[in-house]
Amino acid sequence: MAGGLRAQAAGGRKLGVALVGLGGYATGQLAPALKLTEHCRLAGVVTGDAAKGRRWASEHGFPESNIWHYDTMHQMADNPDIDIVYVVTPNALHAEHCIKAAEAGKHVTSEKPFTVSVAEADAVIAKCREMGVKLSIGYRLHFEPHHEVLRELARTQKFGRFMKQQGNFSFVMRGMQWRAQHALAGGGPLMDLGVYVIQEACMAAGGVAPVAVTARQLPKERPDFFQDVEESIEWTMEFPGGEVCEAACSYNGRGNQFRAEAANGWFEVQPAFGYGGIRAQTSEGPVDVPNLPQQALQMDDFARCVKEDRVSKVSGEMGRRDMVILEGIYAAMNSGERVAITGA
Ligand code: NAD
Repeated sequence: MAGGLRAQAAGGRKLGVALVGLGGYATGQLAPALKLTEHCRLAGVVTGDAAKGRRWASEHGFPESNIWHYDTMHQMADNPDIDIVYVVTPNALHAEHCIKAAEAGKHVTSEKPFTVSVAEADAVIAKCREMGVKLSIGYRLHFEPHHEVLRELARTQKFGRFMKQQGNFSFVMRGMQWRAQHALAGGGPLMDLGVYVIQEACMAAGGVAPVAVTARQLPKERPDFFQDVEESIEWTMEFPGGEVCEAACSYNGRGNQFRAEAANGWFEVQPAFGYGGIRAQTSEGPVDVPNLPQQALQMDDFARCVKEDRVSKVSGEMGRRDMVILEGIYAAMNSGERVAITGA
């Protein structure tokens, strides 16, 4: 069915969302958020654990026929309850699961990072186009009011261009998990946390990608733990208008802030990247906007994009742009050279 016909078919009902991967983020954030949404509801799951799937069906009130395994996702094609598939598996599995969802004729949201390479991002975008389904990325901060203030200041240039930017997102990673394995994560904290700082800097520069990056991996304090991914990285992004962002992220540190300075004022958000409790100020004083349920707003917006046949503002192309930047930063880290960002 073409995109427009799908939108008509959706009518005024709540669209059915299937979550793929019932881990920490799906359980702790997305499922509760789907109880707050107006335009969509949790209608099914994809999980490797059938018993867990049955528990979710009972708790969230969907039929057990709406539980699939990763290997049986294609069977969703015959199920009209599911309109949107939300992929929340480890990063290196996003492309495979997004492609399976699109092949089943479902609209797709991928968690961040979109994929683990530009080539994979291209493959997902091409498959969604071929199947006539919409694609969005789980960039929840585009639905967060403090960050909206930053985007607006960048758009109006009320303080001037944000020439000097600085951002850091870091925490201390404990326990063995896929985030420290290159094969599943596609990289270390840059993939997981750095993407938030990249997003923020692109917002502060007016929604454009950097033209060049430099990067440096910091010495590992736990080399046994971080065997094949970076533990900490610092990088610089140079934007077309001359703006420069000094950025850092780490799995062995603390940081959760972004600051942007212009000739006539500044904006700072700290804590910047959490699910709530975000606080921001400008050179004029505290930013007085509420913390809202980001994930509910994000999922409702995508449901409305489907219903109204619109492109999401957190599009697959934006996810791909960030993959180009991420690949550029890794290339700069590995070569020690300044790397030009092209084709973002
Ligand atoms: P998690 O480890 O808690 O959950 C991952 C899920 O994937 C688990 O249910 C696991 O069983 C399943 N899985 C399927 N195949 C697997 C395999 N081969 N190996 C390991 N697990 C497999 O992780 P999470 O924190 O829920 O993160 C999942 C995704 O969500 C990641 O891409 C992450 O970047 C993203 N995420 C986004 C946000 C956000 O704020 N937008 C926050 C947290 C996580």
